[in-house]
Order: sequence, then C-alpha cells, then structure tokens
Amino acid sequence: MSTDFALAARLDDLRREYDDLKARGLTLDLTRGKPSAEQLDLSEPLLALPGEGQHTAEDGTDTRNYGGLSGLLELRRIFAELLDVPVGQLLAQGNASLTLMYDTIVQALLFGVPGSDRPWSREEQVTFLCPVPGYDRHFAICEELGIRMVTVPMTPDGPDAEAVAALVAEDASIRGLWVVPTYANPDGAVVSETVARRLVSMPTAAPDFRIFWDNAYVVHHLTDVETPSVNAVALASDAGNPDRVFLYASTSKITFAGAGVAFFAASPANIDWYQAHLGIRSIGPDKVNQLRHAMFFRNADGVRAHMRRHREILAPKFSAVGEILTRRLSEAGVASWTEPLGGYFVSVDVVPGTASRVVQLAKDAGIALTPAGSTFPYHRDPQDRNIRLAPSMPPLDEVRAAMDGVATCILLAAAEAAAA
Ligand code: PLP
Repeated sequence: MSTDFALAARLDDLRREYDDLKARGLTLDLTRGKPSAEQLDLSEPLLALPGEGQHTAEDGTDTRNYGGLSGLLELRRIFAELLDVPVGQLLAQGNASLTLMYDTIVQALLFGVPGSDRPWSREEQVTFLCPVPGYDRHFAICEELGIRMVTVPMTPDGPDAEAVAALVAEDASIRGLWVVPTYANPDGAVVSETVARRLVSMPTAAPDFRIFWDNAYVVHHLTDVETPSVNAVALASDAGNPDRVFLYASTSKITFAGAGVAFFAASPANIDWYQAHLGIRSIGPDKVNQLRHAMFFRNADGVRAHMRRHREILAPKFSAVGEILTRRLSEAGVASWTEPLGGYFVSVDVVPGTASRVVQLAKDAGIALTPAGSTFPYHRDPQDRNIRLAPSMPPLDEVRAAMDGVATCILLAAAEAAAA
C-alpha cells in the first residue's frame, strides 16, 4: 500500500496521463451486463426453429394456440434438472425473470402470499433486506413499489446470514430478502450451503417472509470450476419452511437476452398461488419460443455445452480486467476487486469517497461506467466506494482499452484525494 504522500507526489504525472487518455477520444461502454453480438450468434439457429410445420409439443399441444399456463413440459424438464427442482414446481414463462419478480411482489402486495394475514400493501410497512453491493434492478422494484430497503453486507459466501437472521427475528415488517445465489451481481459471490441452510431455517417475525432467490447466473461459469447452486427450495422444505423460497432464472444470458424464456420455481402452495393469479393475467405463455428452446438444447447437457461456448468468449475478457487492474493498481494499493468464477460482473472498491469521481473522470474520457452508487438501494453508496464493471459486451481490445483508462481514473482520483 503506497502512502498518501507517495500518491500525492504522482498527481502531476497522473494528470498528464489522464489528459493523454482524454485526447484519445474513446467511446467505450462497460455499463450493462449484456451479452455481446458474438455470444448472441451462438444461438442464431434459434431463429430458424421450430420451423414451418413444427409446432407440436411432445404431449400433442399445438404451441401456436392459447393455453399451457405452466409452460412446455419438455423445456421445463431441462431446466428442472439444471435448477435442481421438481418439474411440477417449475413454470416456464415469458422472456424476463425480472418481470416474474415484479409480478410476484405485486401479487404479494395485492393479495398476500400463502401464510399472509392480509395483503402486504395493507401492512403498515413492508421491508426487504438488500445485500450490498447488489443488483440495481432489484432495488428499483422495491423503490417503485414503496418497499423500504434495509442493507445487509455481502460476504464471499453470500449475504451475511447472522445479520439477516438477527433482523428478521425482530422486525415483522421484513417480508423479503434478495439473494443472487450463484455468481452474484456484482461481486460474484456464491451462497454456501451453510448460509443457505441458515437463511431457510432462521425464525422470522413475519409469518409470510420470502427469499427472492434470483439464480440468474446458475450455469454461467467462467472457469473449469462449475460451482453447483445450493438447492434452496428443497432445503427450505427440509427445514419445515417449504414456502420460504421464490426461485427465478432465465435464458437471457444463455440464448437471447431479449427473446429468451424465464422460469419460476417454488413450493406447490406457492406455485398454485402464483398460477391462480397468473391465469387471470394470461391465457398462456409464448410456447412457440419455448418449443424452439427445447429443440435447440435437447437436454440439460445441451445447455451445459452451450454455456462452455459462452465461456470461451467471456473468460478472456474477465482475465483482461483482472490482469490490467493487477498490473496498474496493485502496487499503489488504491483498489480491491473481485475475480469471479462466473457471472457477468467485476466489483471494484476504490478509495472511499472517490467512486463518483472515478466514474465522472471515465465519462469525460469517453468510458461509460455504471453510475457510482448503483449497487446500493436508492443509489446511495454510503462510502462512495463501489463500482460495477460489466466487460461482456465490448470486444476484447475495447475491454483492454477501457480497463487501462479506468485504472488511470482510479489512480488519479486517489491521488487527488490524497493531495486534498
Ligand atoms: N437478475 C440478475 C441478478 C441480473 O443480473 C439480471 C440481468 O442483468 C437479471 C436478473 C435480468 O434477468 P432477465 O433478463 O431474465 O429479466
């Protein structure tokens, strides 16, 4: 770790380096975790499926017609294996799991969930626990729907289970906990079995508490270590709290982010509850899209093989991020960052108080980063320290150029703070 004095002494050099960076007139974007065009191309055969005359599901359903609220069995079977849930407890729906999260929360507010005394909206207050850093769109749902957010720290094994347990035991307004169990957005943490067991078995003051288990990155490995997800639905059932977990997933980052299939899994009582309201809202999902996905993958191994091809494209980008941050920043000791084994993000902690400045410096140099504070509820990072990097979308040479620039911005912001 260099001293503030050593850093401050580099201020003039860093300012010159930054001016050179700006003079390059870059336009680079590391803001959102989107798949690159090269990744989308892996699923190009989907565009020719199911093919003219190919519209019959294995049970004889004409996928072109209304009906089939739960989704096509052949596709649910594939994802039931990958998500390790009984197929009868898994629904295949539209293209976005975020919509399923929004819908389940809206349904809870309007009608309550199994175990509720009344609709959540009739409670004086509804609170969700939000592990931080976390996913901005989870927080946006809560903010829009008037749900109070209370932060809990993330650990390398998932949310700080003891902090969560202490809060839910005391505060009956706590109805929800957000969890991204595998390769979390943004810090790549994977929930350990110990943490999962604690979360599904802890006593809660609210009778209808739910864990929103968003397994968006369940098969999104970046290395040979294909970490399996903990089976939270089964663990909750074993712990005597079968209704505690709502599980979500999708093929957004497997096939097409804009035209994939989303999944919802939970206990039989939760599935019945969701479907009862869903049946009013819809006559059935897009089964043609589900059929083309089932034909494309064939089975769970088909998905696994497909994800290895994604990995070949993504892994070099993540390696470049780690390599450039290490080369440029480790000696100065002005930042720490994650080296995820999967998922879509790298989480960087810079010198406290400088994250907004880093993002501004990068913006002025033509490098778009996710706004500072995005990984916290209400966009407020109390230490102004965390920055989420999303290297999936730009080509490798652009990731390299962007990261080199980001490193310069991190150093300059740290030097400015040291000199102040
Ligand atoms: N959940 C997490 C943790 C994500 O990072 C994302 C996308 O970035 C989503 C959900 C969005 O999923 P979907 O495209 O299925 O709505």
